[in-house]
Amino acid sequence: MRVTYDAIVLGVGGMGSATVYALAKRGCKVLGLEQFNIGHDLGSSHGVHRIIRLAYAEDPRYVPLLRRAYELWREIENRTGERLLFITGGVDAGLERSAIIQGSLRSCEEHSIPHEKLDAASLHRRFPGYRLAKEMVAVYQPDAGFVLSERAIIAYVTAAQTMGAEVRGRERVRSWVVKRGRVLVRTDRASYAARKLVITAGPWASKVLPLLRKPRLAVPERQVLIWTQPLRPEHFRLGAFPIFVIETPGGKKANKYYGFPIYGFPGFKFGRYHHLNEEVDPDSVDRSCRRRDEELLRKGIRAYFPDADGPTMAMKSCLFTNSPDEHFVLDVHPEFRNISIAAGFSGHGFKFASVVGEIMADFALEGGSAEFDLELFSVTRARTSLL
Ligand SMILES: Cc1cc2nc3c(=O)[nH]c(=O)nc-3n(C[C@H](O)[C@H](O)[C@H](O)COP(=O)(O)OP(=O)(O)OC[C@H]3O[C@@H](n4cnc5c(N)ncnc54)[C@H](O)[C@@H]3O)c2cc1C
Repeated sequence: MRVTYDAIVLGVGGMGSATVYALAKRGCKVLGLEQFNIGHDLGSSHGVHRIIRLAYAEDPRYVPLLRRAYELWREIENRTGERLLFITGGVDAGLERSAIIQGSLRSCEEHSIPHEKLDAASLHRRFPGYRLAKEMVAVYQPDAGFVLSERAIIAYVTAAQTMGAEVRGRERVRSWVVKRGRVLVRTDRASYAARKLVITAGPWASKVLPLLRKPRLAVPERQVLIWTQPLRPEHFRLGAFPIFVIETPGGKKANKYYGFPIYGFPGFKFGRYHHLNEEVDPDSVDRSCRRRDEELLRKGIRAYFPDADGPTMAMKSCLFTNSPDEHFVLDVHPEFRNISIAAGFSGHGFKFASVVGEIMADFALEGGSAEFDLELFSVTRARTSLL
Protein backbone atom coordinates (compact mmCIF):
# COMPACT_ATOMS: atom_id res chain seq x y z
CA MET A 1 0.00 0.00 0.00
CA ARG A 2 1.37 3.40 -0.98
CA VAL A 3 1.44 6.08 1.70
CA THR A 4 0.01 9.35 0.45
CA TYR A 5 1.75 12.57 1.46
CA ASP A 6 0.66 16.18 1.16
CA ALA A 7 4.03 16.88 -0.45
CA ILE A 8 7.22 15.13 -1.49
CA VAL A 9 10.46 17.12 -1.68
CA LEU A 10 12.90 15.66 -4.20
CA GLY A 11 16.45 16.41 -3.02
CA VAL A 12 17.26 17.30 0.60
CA GLY A 13 20.24 19.65 0.21
CA GLY A 14 20.24 23.40 0.92
CA MET A 15 16.90 24.28 -0.65
CA GLY A 16 15.19 20.92 -0.01
CA SER A 17 15.96 20.82 3.72
CA ALA A 18 14.51 24.34 4.17
CA THR A 19 11.46 23.33 2.10
CA VAL A 20 10.79 20.18 4.15
CA TYR A 21 10.98 22.38 7.27
CA ALA A 22 8.66 25.09 5.88
CA LEU A 23 6.07 22.51 4.82
CA ALA A 24 6.23 20.68 8.18
CA LYS A 25 5.87 24.02 9.98
CA ARG A 26 2.55 24.53 8.16
CA GLY A 27 1.26 21.17 9.30
CA CYS A 28 1.85 19.20 6.11
CA LYS A 29 2.53 15.51 5.95
CA VAL A 30 5.83 15.81 4.09
CA LEU A 31 8.42 13.35 2.78
CA GLY A 32 11.96 14.42 1.82
CA LEU A 33 13.92 12.08 -0.44
CA GLU A 34 17.70 12.38 -0.70
CA GLN A 35 19.93 10.17 -2.85
CA PHE A 36 23.02 10.51 -0.60
CA ASN A 37 23.58 11.00 3.13
CA ILE A 38 21.69 13.85 4.79
CA GLY A 39 24.52 16.38 4.66
CA HIS A 40 27.07 15.23 2.06
CA ASP A 41 29.88 16.69 -0.04
CA LEU A 42 28.80 15.69 -3.55
CA GLY A 43 26.42 18.55 -4.38
CA SER A 44 26.43 22.34 -3.97
CA SER A 45 26.13 23.08 -0.26
CA HIS A 46 29.29 21.73 1.42
CA GLY A 47 32.54 23.47 2.43
CA VAL A 48 31.44 24.85 5.83
CA HIS A 49 29.75 28.15 4.89
CA ARG A 50 28.31 30.53 2.32
CA ILE A 51 28.31 34.33 2.00
CA ILE A 52 25.15 36.29 2.77
CA ARG A 53 24.96 39.97 1.78
CA LEU A 54 22.27 42.62 1.44
CA ALA A 55 23.86 45.06 -1.05
CA TYR A 56 22.93 42.74 -3.88
CA ALA A 57 24.88 43.66 -7.01
CA GLU A 58 23.12 40.98 -9.07
CA ASP A 59 19.76 42.84 -9.02
CA PRO A 60 17.93 45.02 -6.46
CA ARG A 61 14.87 42.80 -6.84
CA TYR A 62 16.64 40.20 -4.66
CA VAL A 63 16.68 42.56 -1.66
CA PRO A 64 13.12 41.89 -0.34
CA LEU A 65 13.88 38.15 -0.42
CA LEU A 66 17.16 38.78 1.38
CA ARG A 67 15.49 40.71 4.17
CA ARG A 68 13.13 37.80 4.73
CA ALA A 69 16.01 35.31 4.43
CA TYR A 70 17.85 37.03 7.31
CA GLU A 71 14.70 36.84 9.48
CA LEU A 72 14.23 33.17 8.71
CA TRP A 73 17.89 32.32 9.44
CA ARG A 74 17.33 33.85 12.87
CA GLU A 75 14.11 31.84 13.23
CA ILE A 76 15.80 28.48 12.64
CA GLU A 77 18.64 29.51 14.98
CA ASN A 78 16.12 30.24 17.71
CA ARG A 79 14.23 27.03 17.12
CA THR A 80 17.33 24.81 17.21
CA GLY A 81 19.51 26.81 19.60
CA GLU A 82 22.34 26.62 17.06
CA ARG A 83 24.23 29.61 15.66
CA LEU A 84 24.11 29.54 11.86
CA LEU A 85 24.35 33.20 10.78
CA PHE A 86 27.53 35.20 11.44
CA ILE A 87 27.68 38.93 10.68
CA THR A 88 31.16 40.01 9.59
CA GLY A 89 30.43 42.98 7.34
CA GLY A 90 31.02 42.64 3.61
CA VAL A 91 33.08 44.23 0.87
CA ASP A 92 32.10 44.49 -2.78
CA ALA A 93 35.13 45.72 -4.72
CA GLY A 94 35.98 46.62 -8.30
CA LEU A 95 36.56 49.55 -10.60
CA GLU A 96 34.21 52.51 -10.10
CA ARG A 97 32.27 51.66 -13.30
CA SER A 98 32.25 47.87 -12.75
CA ALA A 99 29.01 45.88 -12.60
CA ILE A 100 29.70 44.92 -8.99
CA ILE A 101 30.16 48.49 -7.70
CA GLN A 102 27.33 49.96 -9.75
CA GLY A 103 25.01 47.03 -8.88
CA SER A 104 25.85 47.09 -5.20
CA LEU A 105 25.29 50.87 -4.96
CA ARG A 106 22.02 50.59 -6.86
CA SER A 107 20.65 48.01 -4.41
CA CYS A 108 21.79 50.15 -1.45
CA GLU A 109 20.20 53.30 -2.84
CA GLU A 110 16.91 51.71 -3.97
CA HIS A 111 16.43 49.92 -0.66
CA SER A 112 18.05 52.41 1.78
CA ILE A 113 20.69 49.91 2.84
CA PRO A 114 23.39 51.44 5.07
CA HIS A 115 26.78 51.39 3.35
CA GLU A 116 30.07 53.21 2.94
CA LYS A 117 32.18 53.76 -0.14
CA LEU A 118 35.92 53.42 0.44
CA ASP A 119 38.99 53.81 -1.74
CA ALA A 120 41.64 51.07 -1.80
CA ALA A 121 43.91 52.80 0.74
CA SER A 122 41.10 53.44 3.26
CA LEU A 123 39.92 49.83 2.96
CA HIS A 124 43.47 48.61 3.67
CA ARG A 125 43.81 50.92 6.68
CA ARG A 126 40.55 49.61 8.10
CA PHE A 127 40.99 45.94 7.14
CA PRO A 128 44.72 45.39 6.56
CA GLY A 129 44.21 41.95 4.92
CA TYR A 130 42.89 43.73 1.80
CA ARG A 131 45.34 45.02 -0.85
CA LEU A 132 43.20 46.24 -3.73
CA ALA A 133 44.78 47.86 -6.79
CA LYS A 134 44.80 51.64 -6.21
CA GLU A 135 42.25 52.33 -8.97
CA MET A 136 39.71 50.01 -7.29
CA VAL A 137 36.98 51.06 -4.84
CA ALA A 138 34.87 49.19 -2.30
CA VAL A 139 31.31 49.27 -0.99
CA TYR A 140 31.32 48.21 2.65
CA GLN A 141 27.99 46.92 4.00
CA PRO A 142 27.86 46.05 7.71
CA ASP A 143 25.07 43.43 7.57
CA ALA A 144 26.90 40.93 5.34
CA GLY A 145 28.40 37.73 6.73
CA PHE A 146 28.09 34.01 6.28
CA VAL A 147 25.69 31.14 6.93
CA LEU A 148 26.94 27.73 8.06
CA SER A 149 25.57 25.81 5.09
CA GLU A 150 26.42 22.26 6.15
CA ARG A 151 25.03 22.79 9.65
CA ALA A 152 21.94 24.56 8.28
CA ILE A 153 20.87 21.44 6.37
CA ILE A 154 21.18 19.33 9.51
CA ALA A 155 19.33 21.98 11.56
CA TYR A 156 16.44 22.16 9.07
CA VAL A 157 16.06 18.38 8.81
CA THR A 158 16.22 17.94 12.59
CA ALA A 159 13.66 20.69 13.20
CA ALA A 160 11.37 19.30 10.48
CA GLN A 161 11.54 15.82 11.99
CA THR A 162 10.45 17.14 15.38
CA MET A 163 7.34 18.46 13.60
CA GLY A 164 6.60 15.06 12.04
CA ALA A 165 8.38 15.28 8.67
CA GLU A 166 9.72 12.05 7.21
CA VAL A 167 13.15 12.27 5.59
CA ARG A 168 14.86 9.40 3.83
CA GLY A 169 18.54 9.47 2.91
CA ARG A 170 20.37 7.17 0.50
CA GLU A 171 17.24 6.77 -1.61
CA ARG A 172 17.41 8.01 -5.20
CA VAL A 173 14.31 9.11 -7.09
CA ARG A 174 14.24 7.22 -10.38
CA SER A 175 11.07 8.68 -11.90
CA TRP A 176 7.91 10.67 -11.22
CA VAL A 177 4.61 10.83 -13.05
CA VAL A 178 1.42 12.86 -12.62
CA LYS A 179 -1.73 10.72 -12.60
CA ARG A 180 -5.24 11.89 -11.82
CA GLY A 181 -3.96 14.98 -10.03
CA ARG A 182 -1.52 13.08 -7.85
CA VAL A 183 2.22 12.65 -8.23
CA LEU A 184 3.63 9.13 -8.11
CA VAL A 185 7.32 8.97 -7.24
CA ARG A 186 9.41 5.85 -7.71
CA THR A 187 12.77 5.50 -5.96
CA ASP A 188 15.36 2.71 -5.92
CA ARG A 189 13.65 1.43 -2.74
CA ALA A 190 9.89 2.14 -2.93
CA SER A 191 7.03 4.10 -4.52
CA TYR A 192 5.19 7.03 -2.94
CA ALA A 193 2.20 9.19 -3.81
CA ALA A 194 1.60 12.84 -2.98
CA ARG A 195 -0.64 15.74 -3.82
CA LYS A 196 2.38 17.94 -4.55
CA LEU A 197 5.98 17.48 -5.63
CA VAL A 198 8.70 20.06 -5.00
CA ILE A 199 11.89 19.59 -7.02
CA THR A 200 15.01 20.88 -5.28
CA ALA A 201 17.60 18.64 -6.95
CA GLY A 202 20.49 21.13 -7.28
CA PRO A 203 23.01 20.04 -9.94
CA TRP A 204 20.78 17.06 -10.82
CA ALA A 205 17.74 19.27 -11.54
CA SER A 206 17.78 18.92 -15.31
CA LYS A 207 18.15 15.14 -14.96
CA VAL A 208 14.92 14.88 -12.99
CA LEU A 209 13.05 17.63 -14.84
CA PRO A 210 13.22 17.62 -18.68
CA LEU A 211 11.65 21.11 -18.74
CA LEU A 212 15.00 22.55 -17.59
CA ARG A 213 16.95 21.09 -20.49
CA LYS A 214 15.76 23.36 -23.33
CA PRO A 215 16.71 26.13 -22.90
CA ARG A 216 19.43 24.91 -20.55
CA LEU A 217 18.26 26.42 -17.28
CA ALA A 218 20.31 24.34 -14.83
CA VAL A 219 23.79 23.52 -16.12
CA PRO A 220 26.22 22.01 -13.55
CA GLU A 221 29.72 23.51 -13.36
CA ARG A 222 32.75 22.36 -11.34
CA GLN A 223 34.10 24.83 -8.75
CA VAL A 224 37.11 24.64 -6.42
CA LEU A 225 37.68 26.20 -2.99
CA ILE A 226 40.99 26.60 -1.17
CA TRP A 227 41.84 27.31 2.48
CA THR A 228 45.31 28.83 3.03
CA GLN A 229 47.03 29.49 6.33
CA PRO A 230 47.59 33.27 6.44
CA LEU A 231 51.11 34.63 7.01
CA ARG A 232 49.44 37.36 9.14
CA PRO A 233 46.51 35.47 10.74
CA GLU A 234 45.48 38.51 12.81
CA HIS A 235 44.33 40.26 9.59
CA PHE A 236 42.03 37.38 8.61
CA ARG A 237 40.44 36.41 11.90
CA LEU A 238 36.70 36.50 12.53
CA GLY A 239 35.93 40.03 13.70
CA ALA A 240 38.81 41.63 11.78
CA PHE A 241 38.04 40.62 8.21
CA PRO A 242 34.75 41.07 6.29
CA ILE A 243 33.60 38.62 3.62
CA PHE A 244 34.11 39.88 0.07
CA VAL A 245 33.22 39.64 -3.60
CA ILE A 246 35.82 41.27 -5.88
CA GLU A 247 35.60 41.94 -9.58
CA THR A 248 39.15 42.58 -10.77
CA PRO A 249 40.10 45.07 -13.50
CA GLY A 250 40.70 43.47 -16.91
CA GLY A 251 37.57 43.98 -19.01
CA LYS A 252 36.47 40.68 -20.54
CA LYS A 253 39.36 38.93 -18.76
CA ALA A 254 38.31 40.20 -15.32
CA ASN A 255 38.12 37.63 -12.51
CA LYS A 256 35.50 37.50 -9.82
CA TYR A 257 36.73 36.22 -6.46
CA TYR A 258 35.08 35.69 -3.08
CA GLY A 259 36.33 34.85 0.38
CA PHE A 260 35.84 34.58 4.11
CA PRO A 261 37.58 35.20 7.43
CA ILE A 262 39.13 32.17 9.17
CA TYR A 263 36.37 29.93 10.42
CA GLY A 264 35.80 26.16 10.53
CA PHE A 265 39.14 25.29 8.93
CA PRO A 266 42.46 26.78 10.06
CA GLY A 267 42.64 28.98 6.99
CA PHE A 268 41.39 31.79 4.79
CA LYS A 269 38.76 30.45 2.34
CA PHE A 270 38.99 31.74 -1.21
CA GLY A 271 37.31 30.91 -4.53
CA ARG A 272 36.90 32.15 -8.08
CA TYR A 273 33.46 32.30 -9.73
CA HIS A 274 33.30 29.99 -12.77
CA HIS A 275 36.63 28.51 -11.72
CA LEU A 276 37.74 26.89 -15.02
CA ASN A 277 34.40 27.21 -16.83
CA GLU A 278 33.99 23.43 -16.76
CA GLU A 279 30.52 22.16 -17.52
CA VAL A 280 30.16 18.71 -15.93
CA ASP A 281 27.82 15.80 -15.26
CA PRO A 282 27.22 15.57 -11.47
CA ASP A 283 27.23 11.75 -11.69
CA SER A 284 30.65 11.51 -13.32
CA VAL A 285 32.53 14.73 -12.42
CA ASP A 286 36.10 14.29 -11.16
CA ARG A 287 35.87 15.72 -7.63
CA SER A 288 39.62 15.68 -6.95
CA CYS A 289 41.53 18.99 -6.71
CA ARG A 290 44.70 19.42 -8.74
CA ARG A 291 47.81 21.63 -8.90
CA ARG A 292 46.27 23.62 -11.75
CA ASP A 293 43.28 24.49 -9.52
CA GLU A 294 45.58 25.64 -6.74
CA GLU A 295 47.76 27.77 -9.03
CA LEU A 296 44.73 29.57 -10.43
CA LEU A 297 43.43 30.42 -6.95
CA ARG A 298 46.85 31.42 -5.60
CA LYS A 299 47.20 33.97 -8.40
CA GLY A 300 44.18 35.79 -6.98
CA ILE A 301 45.35 35.45 -3.36
CA ARG A 302 48.83 36.82 -4.19
CA ALA A 303 47.36 39.79 -6.08
CA TYR A 304 44.74 40.93 -3.53
CA PHE A 305 45.50 39.16 -0.21
CA PRO A 306 49.28 38.60 -0.15
CA ASP A 307 49.29 38.18 3.64
CA ALA A 308 47.10 35.09 3.22
CA ASP A 309 49.48 33.34 0.82
CA GLY A 310 50.72 30.69 3.28
CA PRO A 311 50.59 26.88 3.20
CA THR A 312 47.51 25.10 1.85
CA MET A 313 45.22 23.73 4.54
CA ALA A 314 42.50 22.17 2.37
CA MET A 315 40.88 22.18 -1.07
CA LYS A 316 37.41 21.00 -2.07
CA SER A 317 35.46 20.83 -5.28
CA CYS A 318 31.79 21.73 -5.42
CA LEU A 319 29.11 22.34 -8.08
CA PHE A 320 27.36 25.46 -9.35
CA THR A 321 24.13 24.99 -11.35
CA ASN A 322 23.91 27.85 -13.82
CA SER A 323 20.98 29.41 -15.64
CA PRO A 324 21.79 31.51 -18.75
CA ASP A 325 21.14 34.87 -17.02
CA GLU A 326 22.37 33.61 -13.61
CA HIS A 327 18.99 34.33 -12.01
CA PHE A 328 17.21 31.50 -10.17
CA VAL A 329 14.29 29.43 -11.40
CA LEU A 330 11.52 29.53 -8.76
CA ASP A 331 8.20 28.60 -10.25
CA VAL A 332 5.29 26.25 -10.59
CA HIS A 333 5.58 23.80 -13.50
CA PRO A 334 3.73 25.37 -16.47
CA GLU A 335 2.07 22.05 -17.36
CA PHE A 336 1.70 20.28 -14.00
CA ARG A 337 0.47 22.83 -11.46
CA ASN A 338 1.11 20.47 -8.54
CA ILE A 339 4.86 20.44 -9.24
CA SER A 340 7.10 23.32 -8.22
CA ILE A 341 10.74 23.97 -8.96
CA ALA A 342 13.68 25.64 -7.23
CA ALA A 343 16.72 25.39 -9.50
CA GLY A 344 19.50 27.21 -11.39
CA PHE A 345 20.97 28.97 -8.35
CA SER A 346 24.05 29.94 -10.40
CA GLY A 347 26.56 30.05 -7.54
CA HIS A 348 24.70 32.55 -5.33
CA GLY A 349 21.71 30.68 -3.93
CA PHE A 350 22.51 29.36 -0.48
CA LYS A 351 21.97 32.61 1.44
CA PHE A 352 18.35 32.45 0.17
CA ALA A 353 17.70 28.82 1.23
CA SER A 354 15.67 29.91 4.26
CA VAL A 355 13.30 32.06 2.17
CA VAL A 356 13.29 29.64 -0.78
CA GLY A 357 11.90 27.01 1.63
CA GLU A 358 9.08 29.40 2.52
CA ILE A 359 8.40 30.26 -1.13
CA MET A 360 8.31 26.61 -2.14
CA ALA A 361 5.81 25.93 0.65
CA ASP A 362 3.71 28.84 -0.73
CA PHE A 363 3.87 27.33 -4.22
CA ALA A 364 2.88 23.87 -2.96
CA LEU A 365 0.09 25.07 -0.67
CA GLU A 366 -1.17 28.27 -2.28
CA GLY A 367 -0.09 27.88 -5.91
CA GLY A 368 2.01 31.08 -5.75
CA SER A 369 3.60 33.65 -3.46
CA ALA A 370 1.50 36.53 -2.16
CA GLU A 371 4.52 38.17 -0.55
CA PHE A 372 7.10 38.43 -3.33
CA ASP A 373 7.24 39.49 -6.95
CA LEU A 374 8.93 36.45 -8.49
CA GLU A 375 8.75 37.39 -12.17
CA LEU A 376 12.56 37.53 -12.36
CA PHE A 377 12.64 33.81 -11.52
CA SER A 378 9.86 32.44 -13.70
CA VAL A 379 10.42 29.50 -16.03
CA THR A 380 8.52 31.33 -18.76
CA ARG A 381 10.78 34.39 -18.42
CA ALA A 382 13.60 32.07 -19.06
CA ARG A 383 11.98 30.19 -21.92
CA THR A 384 10.94 33.26 -23.87
CA SER A 385 13.83 35.67 -23.31
CA LEU A 386 16.72 33.28 -22.95
CA LEU A 387 16.28 31.08 -25.99
C1 LIG B 1 32.05 26.57 -4.29
C2 LIG B 1 30.70 27.20 -4.11
C3 LIG B 1 30.62 28.41 -3.45
C4 LIG B 1 29.38 29.04 -3.29
N1 LIG B 1 29.31 30.21 -2.59
C5 LIG B 1 28.11 30.75 -2.29
C6 LIG B 1 28.00 31.83 -1.40
O1 LIG B 1 29.02 32.31 -0.88
N2 LIG B 1 26.77 32.32 -1.12
C7 LIG B 1 25.63 31.78 -1.65
O2 LIG B 1 24.55 32.27 -1.35
N3 LIG B 1 25.70 30.72 -2.49
C8 LIG B 1 26.90 30.19 -2.81
N4 LIG B 1 26.99 29.08 -3.60
C9 LIG B 1 25.77 28.55 -4.20
C10 LIG B 1 25.00 27.72 -3.21
O3 LIG B 1 25.85 26.93 -2.44
C11 LIG B 1 23.97 26.90 -3.99
O4 LIG B 1 23.16 27.79 -4.73
C12 LIG B 1 23.12 26.05 -3.08
O5 LIG B 1 23.92 25.25 -2.25
C13 LIG B 1 22.20 25.18 -3.94
O6 LIG B 1 21.44 24.35 -3.10
P1 LIG B 1 20.54 23.19 -3.74
O7 LIG B 1 19.64 22.73 -2.67
O8 LIG B 1 20.00 23.68 -5.04
O9 LIG B 1 21.62 22.05 -4.12
P2 LIG B 1 22.17 20.88 -3.19
O10 LIG B 1 22.48 21.39 -1.84
O11 LIG B 1 23.25 20.19 -3.96
O12 LIG B 1 20.92 19.94 -3.02
C14 LIG B 1 20.35 19.17 -4.05
C15 LIG B 1 20.09 17.81 -3.46
O13 LIG B 1 19.24 17.04 -4.30
C16 LIG B 1 19.67 15.70 -4.21
N5 LIG B 1 19.15 14.97 -5.37
C17 LIG B 1 19.35 15.27 -6.68
N6 LIG B 1 18.75 14.38 -7.49
C18 LIG B 1 18.15 13.47 -6.66
C19 LIG B 1 17.38 12.29 -6.90
N7 LIG B 1 17.11 11.86 -8.13
N8 LIG B 1 16.90 11.61 -5.83
C20 LIG B 1 17.15 12.04 -4.56
N9 LIG B 1 17.91 13.14 -4.29
C21 LIG B 1 18.39 13.85 -5.32
C22 LIG B 1 21.18 15.85 -4.20
O14 LIG B 1 21.84 14.68 -3.78
C23 LIG B 1 21.38 17.03 -3.29
O15 LIG B 1 21.52 16.65 -1.94
C24 LIG B 1 28.21 28.43 -3.80
C25 LIG B 1 28.30 27.21 -4.46
C26 LIG B 1 29.53 26.59 -4.61
C27 LIG B 1 29.61 25.25 -5.30
